[in-house]
Amino acid sequence: MFCATLFSGSGYDQAFTENMARTIEYMQKGGRFRLVDGHDDICRCCPNREPDGCSLGTENVSGRDRAALEVTGLAPGRDMSWAELRECLGRVSEAEFQRVCGDCRWQETGLCSYALLRERAMP
Ligand code: SF4
Ligand code: SF4
Repeated sequence: MFCATLFSGSGYDQAFTENMARTIEYMQKGGRFRLVDGHDDICRCCPNREPDGCSLGTENVSGRDRAALEVTGLAPGRDMSWAELRECLGRVSEAEFQRVCGDCRWQETGLCSYALLRERAMP
């Protein structure tokens, strides 16, 4: 949910980037995104997807997903609108953002940040 809201057009490959852009457009037009504990619609088109996890490390990605649910107080299975996602992220502090995203490569390369979250999230 963090990654979709902060997406800036960069991704792992063309299929991933196009699917992410399509998913965001669908949500911005009123669609809903289901929070799941495992592979979601974003993972479906990702080159890092593996049958039972993610080549970037299931433990790392699962831990990030778990932390995202904990800091937002959300549970898997909930269908979220784009506005609800942005509202939830608006309540996330910088310390909470770092708990979820601290070791992410996109943050390390400067493509994602807490400052970007503040721009995208609803106040
Ligand atoms: S820092 Fe990484 S994990 Fe966090 S929202 Fe950005 S891309 Fe996603
Ligand atoms: S969790 Fe892994 S498979 Fe899913 S989108 Fe992220 S990098 Fe890709």
